[in-house]
Amino acid sequence: MAHDNMKTELIEWARHNRSVLAGHRLYATGTTGALLQRDLGMSVHCYLSGPLGGDQQVGAAIAEGHVDVLVFFWDPLEPQPHDPDVKALLRIATLWNVAAACNRTTADMIITSPLMTGDYRAARPRHA
Ligand code: PGA
Repeated sequence: MAHDNMKTELIEWARHNRSVLAGHRLYATGTTGALLQRDLGMSVHCYLSGPLGGDQQVGAAIAEGHVDVLVFFWDPLEPQPHDPDVKALLRIATLWNVAAACNRTTADMIITSPLMTGDYRAARPRHA
């Protein structure tokens, strides 16, 4: 997922990593997901648009254990109407020990990690 000013960068990143992404189930917020489907020609499960609740839906999917890696290019230069949702999503990703990339370098490092293709399962913290 990506904020509007960051969508081009995310699409370029996804294009570059298309073959790896093809081996995974992809979920995205609405607008980002539609762009990814169109550009990559791959199936992407689209939640609502971020400002309309999509960030919270992704957060819920993380809390339910359906997400291994979050790639979220959020915009550090512009306030968003749903900033509280953004903060909540980043919090829930940290809480549940999900690998989270908020910029291209981190996303590159995660997607090229050998752990992406092995049997690695991130430890799921035991919260009451
Ligand atoms: P969008 O949402 O993909 O629907 O633009 C992104 C976001 O704001 O989190």
